[in-house]
Amino acid sequence: MENPVIVAIDGPSGTGKSSTSKAVAAKLGLSYLDTGAQYRAITWWMLNNGIDVDDPVAVADSAGKPSIVSGSDPANPTITVDGVDASAPIRTQEVTAAVSAVSAVPEVRTRMVELQRAAGAAAPAGIVVEGRDIGTTVFPAATVKIFLTASAEARAARRSGELKGALSVADTQAALVKRDAADSGRTTSPLAMAADAVEVDTTDLTLEQVIECIVTLVEEKRAPR
Ligand code: C5P
Repeated sequence: MENPVIVAIDGPSGTGKSSTSKAVAAKLGLSYLDTGAQYRAITWWMLNNGIDVDDPVAVADSAGKPSIVSGSDPANPTITVDGVDASAPIRTQEVTAAVSAVSAVPEVRTRMVELQRAAGAAAPAGIVVEGRDIGTTVFPAATVKIFLTASAEARAARRSGELKGALSVADTQAALVKRDAADSGRTTSPLAMAADAVEVDTTDLTLEQVIECIVTLVEEKRAPR
């Protein structure tokens, strides 16, 4: 048996992390974990339970309360909070606007990292994990580390398309830039590229080209020497 592989895919919002990560996992027969969905899920629980998300002490006090479970099939990624399907409500603007504050709280990160490492240990062939700190903090010994980037304009255009025009491209760009600044500027595990990551600028690449590039990198690492 080959050793399980861990593929860490980090980068700011709107670089195509989710579409890329799911496709890479499906092509390579690996499990898949969207860590952003976990941070969104705990944020959704905080909002539902009247926790002031701008009060780090209140957020830290409740960080251990919700039970968050992620399904690892790239064809059907699921997420539940206390047994309730959270896949749709975690994508609302309300959650998106609050998630950076919640995910900056160290107690929240400790809890999520535990879940993420457990998901890695439970994946038989290996796992593709997407997020912001996977290559730096969660799996520093990952088999392959990718850092996806794209121009702010390209990221905003893609995200605005996903939101089906609910927000203009300019408003989407302003919201993305604000969230990236918060994620990059926090003290605990900020969004950062690991020293040994491969940076892939997706601005002028198709999704298929990005997927092919990562699949090739993983296959090279897996090939017997
Ligand atoms: O990837 P997505 O945009 O869904 O992530 C939502 C938020 O979750 C990010 O803006 C960031 O605040 C947080 N996050 C994080 N660490 C990760 C993944 C996501 O702090 N590994």
